[in-house]
Amino acid sequence: MSRRAVVIGAGLAGMLAAAVLSGAGVDEVIVLDRDDLPEGPEHRKGLPQGRHAHLLMAGGLAAMEDLVPDLSLRKRLLAAGAHEISLSSGMLALTPEGWLRRWRREGPVMLTCSRALLDWTVRDAVLEHCPVEVRRAAVVGLTGSAARVRGVRVAAPGGDTELEADFVVDASGRGTRVVTWLAGLGLTGIEERTVDSGLVNATRVYRVPQGAERFPLTIVQPDPYRSRPGRSAMVLPIEDDRWMVSLGGTRGGEPPADPEGFLRYTLALPDPIVGRLISGAEPLTGVHLSRSTSNVRRYLEKSARWPDGFVVLGDALGTFNPVYGQGMSVAAFGARVLDRELSRAGLTAPGLARRVLRGTARSVDAAWSMAVSQDLRYPEVRGVRPGLADRVVTAYSRRMMKAATGSYAAASAIWDVTSMRTPPTRMFRPTALLAALTGSPLPPLTGAPLTPGERELLRGLDRTGV
Ligand SMILES: Cc1cc2nc3c(=O)[nH]c(=O)nc-3n(C[C@H](O)[C@H](O)[C@H](O)COP(=O)(O)OP(=O)(O)OC[C@H]3O[C@@H](n4cnc5c(N)ncnc54)[C@H](O)[C@@H]3O)c2cc1C
Repeated sequence: MSRRAVVIGAGLAGMLAAAVLSGAGVDEVIVLDRDDLPEGPEHRKGLPQGRHAHLLMAGGLAAMEDLVPDLSLRKRLLAAGAHEISLSSGMLALTPEGWLRRWRREGPVMLTCSRALLDWTVRDAVLEHCPVEVRRAAVVGLTGSAARVRGVRVAAPGGDTELEADFVVDASGRGTRVVTWLAGLGLTGIEERTVDSGLVNATRVYRVPQGAERFPLTIVQPDPYRSRPGRSAMVLPIEDDRWMVSLGGTRGGEPPADPEGFLRYTLALPDPIVGRLISGAEPLTGVHLSRSTSNVRRYLEKSARWPDGFVVLGDALGTFNPVYGQGMSVAAFGARVLDRELSRAGLTAPGLARRVLRGTARSVDAAWSMAVSQDLRYPEVRGVRPGLADRVVTAYSRRMMKAATGSYAAASAIWDVTSMRTPPTRMFRPTALLAALTGSPLPPLTGAPLTPGERELLRGLDRTGV
């Protein structure tokens, strides 16, 4: 009997899920997206976060490569101009505990490029290799019952139409209506939690100044420990010799949308390096603002009843403060769980959907804890206050970060976790524990760890007189 799967959303989670389903032998895989999908790496309306800096962590990329090895995503992205950045040597990072050193040893890497390039590369590769059809359509509900989803309802000019399916994936992102859709099937009482630090992101793209093509990725991280709004800035190299410069500020510390204010904001940070770098650079866009950055968790896996034939992946299950760069990797981990469960039991196995949700929830929870334990500390945060466990985790992470300013063992534990190659328990392995207990063997750095050449370059680029 011929089987059909429908995926709601052609973003990252949706295209990866579609690739998995087609690889699992589903006869017909249809991806529905309400957006007009561009033919090339261009920004689109349905992906407003695409205007802002996106880091693809090593763990997320590895999950994508495992899922569909034939796609060679890393190779495709690098060929299209993405950058591979070593966390141990290719980055200047000012943390709340001081500057991290740069080490000669290679650590994990991350990929940087525009989100438009990333999404298009994944979509293009999946469509080239897998028998998947993408259609433009807005889903407005589910069909079936609380015991089994049987398809979706799609908006149409003359009234909604129905599309039947043996399996439905909701990958419609942070704006999903899944809770309402489930209520339409009689499933209510889904627990949801929101922690909103009021984060606003402001991003502007610049041409990389001549000679600065190899300047390290630069981050001034927000500080959640001083009872002040968090303020951060990042200069991220992307394709076509451009820098994407993203600022982030929590409630009371929001970055402005005007170009002069944008530069002033970077210069008022604990280190003005970002402002100095961009002060003479040629802007290629205006400043784009985004406000939808709260942490939202839908505890679908805890629902007393769950319909067969329906799973939820990516941002639709949980979204996190983007400063930790986790969302895309979590979307890939979810697709990997779907792949594992499908190869174990097949598409129609009873309870499959619930097992996928539970498996996916584990990586969602790890990312959620990392983001929320920090966000809860900002003044004027809306959500729950930190509990004892949050305070213990924070105290330990802080100690580890302080040690990481001068200890490779501590720094590499943090990089492994941030790059999502290993679970957060990596921080409690004996070498990491010892490093946290003994602290940094080296004195704190008094400024960014620049090479003499980079220092000279920065001086040449600086038009601020700071
Ligand atoms: C400012 C910002 C910066 C970020 N930076 C990072 C980062 O550095 N690293 C990182 O890993 N993550 C980052 N993220 C998170 C990342 O953007 C998301 O985790 C990721 O996009 C999730 O992918 P997704 O496929 O679940 O959802 P999306 O990518 O949002 O895709 C959802 C798709 O569903 C479609 N859709 C929506 N509703 C419907 C409907 N009813 N019917 C049909 N189609 C529909 C949309 O058009 C869209 O194409 C950031 C997020 C923000 C907001």
